[in-house]
Amino acid sequence: MTYPQLSLYIDGEFIHGGGRREQDVLNPATGQVIGQLPHATREDLDRALAAAARAFTTWKKSSPMERSKVLRKVAELARERAQDIGRGITMDQGKPLAESVGEVVACSEHAEWHAEECRRIYGRVIPARNDSVRQMVLREPVGVVAAFSPWNFPFNQAIRKIAAAVGAGCTIVLKGPEDAPSGVVALARLFHDAGLPAGVLNIVWGVPSEVSDHLIDSPVVRKITFTGSVPVGKMLAAKAAALMKRSTMELGGHAPVIICDDADIDAAIKMLVPYKFRNAGQVCVSPTRFFVQEGVYERFVADFVGRTQGLKVGDGLLPDTKMGPLAQQRRVGAVAGFIDDARERGATVLTGGAPIPGAGNFFSPTLIADLPEDSRLMNEEPFGPVAGILRFKTIDEVLARANRLPFGLAAYAFTGSNRNAHALSTGLEAGMVTINHLGLALAETPFGGIKDSGIGSEGGTETFDGYLNTKFVTQMN
Ligand code: NAD
Repeated sequence: MTYPQLSLYIDGEFIHGGGRREQDVLNPATGQVIGQLPHATREDLDRALAAAARAFTTWKKSSPMERSKVLRKVAELARERAQDIGRGITMDQGKPLAESVGEVVACSEHAEWHAEECRRIYGRVIPARNDSVRQMVLREPVGVVAAFSPWNFPFNQAIRKIAAAVGAGCTIVLKGPEDAPSGVVALARLFHDAGLPAGVLNIVWGVPSEVSDHLIDSPVVRKITFTGSVPVGKMLAAKAAALMKRSTMELGGHAPVIICDDADIDAAIKMLVPYKFRNAGQVCVSPTRFFVQEGVYERFVADFVGRTQGLKVGDGLLPDTKMGPLAQQRRVGAVAGFIDDARERGATVLTGGAPIPGAGNFFSPTLIADLPEDSRLMNEEPFGPVAGILRFKTIDEVLARANRLPFGLAAYAFTGSNRNAHALSTGLEAGMVTINHLGLALAETPFGGIKDSGIGSEGGTETFDGYLNTKFVTQMN
């Protein structure tokens, strides 16, 4: 199986070689080197910035119809190429092929949504106090965007940023995930083939802190967008704030799932098991803290454990695999650390609990009960195939426990009662709440967190907010 050629994409050119430093790209299912990723030199970064600044002078004046046309074409090409792009993502990121292909196909909808929505970036007219005055509010693109996208959904997280920037009339320099780069190179190829003018999109790779320092410090850059961990997000947001640059931050979560006595338990478990272990749990909205009301606790746990044990873990390229390896070797130790801590504090490992021996970063799907609230798993984002299950008695109690952490990304609840649903949807401190089904991350709905989980939204009608300045113009005739 061939892995795609990797490259930088600067000013409309795909670039590799030329004596640049290269980084090995590994297949997490085998540990083998499958590709070489060229790092950008300082000159490459400066060229990307200059290209983005130059392209902005014309792209900011482009008609919404022109931007819409490019985004529509990207959607069409992504559907056509989904199998090939998906195979590359499975090879460098590890998730099962069906999930990788699904990620690419779903992203066609993100491109289409931005194609439609960019034609509705409206201003407004404010009635004036004087008959000869016309007061207008204009929305203008902020300028060059520096974007940093992560490895867990390499295609999805990058296209959301690119489509929002390009649709708003901004230009962008994006540093993708060095561990799982093929999806982002494929995206550059899609935009290139869809006719995006040179310089509007630029893709660079390197040592993350060096690249982000260089890009954020550049006076050319007016906006920062990052998806990744809370500590890195806080650091980048602080740098951006010191330079008075706008930022959108999509950071980590530690999602509570509340299962009430009156929930349809069979339906909930059927949805939650594949959802919990999707992408080996390396998902910012992954359900991680399961609070189960005492009347259904025993039954929920028995069925949840049973179904989890039926999951087939293996190489994502094999057709019957339901969960692939962790994306990097370092994640195996990180996930094991949560379980060791739980065991030391007297918790019960209901299933899994250890790496799977042999080649690759495989870890068994893990459920843990009897966890003290001060255990690491109940406080830090695990970002892996592990979840804690806890009992609760009342809605007020579970709300306090669910809201205890500084995270506020996603929250889930299952209940047959409107009263509980209302109390939970209004009481949960989260940017997104989904009740009795799993309905997050659609193109037409806003995605984003509160508290430590971030600033701003991607998707929905909010998607361009972070990429537009508001300008007030008042004119007297
Ligand atoms: P990490 O904190 O080292 O890195 C997280 C991400 O930030 C990576 O994509 C990395 O390349 C990038 N990054 C790190 N330092 C940076 C810098 N100075 N400038 C720009 N980008 C930088 O952790 P990791 O081991 O790669 O991933 C594990 C943690 O990351 C998890 O605990 C999870 O919280 C978080 N994460 C979150 C998301 C998300 O969707 N919110 C995605 C991926 C990772």
